[in-house]
Amino acid sequence: MDNRMKRSACRLLIGLAAITALSAHAEEPSWHQPHKPFRVYGNTYYVGTEGLSAILITSSQGSILIDGTLQCNAPLIEANIRALGLRVEDVRVILNSHAHSDHAGAIAELARASGAQVRASAAGARALMAGGNDPEDPLFGEALLYPPVAHVGVVADGGTVRVGDITLTAHYTPGHTPGSTSWTWRSCEQGRCLSMVYADSLAAISANGFRFSDDATHTHRAEDFRRSIATVAALPCNILMAPHPDAIDFMDKVAARNRGRQPDPLIDPHACQAYAAAAGLKLEARLVKEQQGHAAR
Ligand SMILES: [Zn+2]
Repeated sequence: MDNRMKRSACRLLIGLAAITALSAHAEEPSWHQPHKPFRVYGNTYYVGTEGLSAILITSSQGSILIDGTLQCNAPLIEANIRALGLRVEDVRVILNSHAHSDHAGAIAELARASGAQVRASAAGARALMAGGNDPEDPLFGEALLYPPVAHVGVVADGGTVRVGDITLTAHYTPGHTPGSTSWTWRSCEQGRCLSMVYADSLAAISANGFRFSDDATHTHRAEDFRRSIATVAALPCNILMAPHPDAIDFMDKVAARNRGRQPDPLIDPHACQAYAAAAGLKLEARLVKEQQGHAAR
C-alpha cells in the first residue's frame, strides 16, 4: 500500500470511529493525531501519537519498542523513530501492553519494517497471533481486529527481555485483557537512574453483557484483576507511562515540564499507586453493578 492509500484507510477508520462513537471502545481522533517524539528520560523516548503511547528504549546494540498503536499509525511511528535520528531497522524487539487494536494494530507492520522479534505474555502472544480475536477478551465480539503477528515469543511473568544493556521485566497484570502486561526498566541521565514503568490499562471495560465477576468457568477473574492492580501499585516507580497517556495526564505533565516546572512533574514516586487506586475504585464499582444485575459495559 502506498502512503496515500494508507492515509485514506486511516481516514476511513476515523469515519467508522465517528459512527461507532457510542460503543465501549470507540476510537478517538487524538489516537491518530501526530505528536512530535521526545525524550521521556535517559534512553526512553515517546514515539506515539497524541492519544496512544509507543515507547522506544535505546541502546548501542539496538532498541526495544513497546506498543505500535493503531494499524494505520505504523508510518507515523516509523517517522517518529527516524525524527529522533534513530533507525527503524535497529528495533530488535517489539513488546505489547495488551492485544487490543489501539496498542497492537501496527505491530505486524512494524515488525516487518524493522525485522524485530515480537514478544508478549503467554495469553498476549496468543491474542496477537489471532489479530485480537480472543474469546477470553472482555471486549470479545466488539474489539476491532487487526493484522495478526506471525511469530510471538512468550515472556514469563517476572521474565526479562534484553537488548544490549537494556533489561525490561514483564509483570503480568491480567484484567483489562487476559494477556495484559506491565513493563519496568531503568533509565539513567547524568548518573541518575530512575525506575521506569509502562503500566498496562487497568480499566474494567467490556463488550455488552460481559461480567468481570467470578463464575463457574472463571473462578479467579475478579481476584486476578485485583491482584494486578496491587501489582502495579507496588512497582518501583519514578516515571509512569501508560498505553493511554490521557489516563495519567501524561501530556499535561510533559507540557508543564517543557514550561520549566520544577521539580519535573513526570518524576512522581506515587504515580503508580495513584493510577492503581483509581482503577481499583472503578473495578469495585463495576463489580457492585454486576452483582446488582445491571447489564454492564
Ligand atoms: Zn484496551
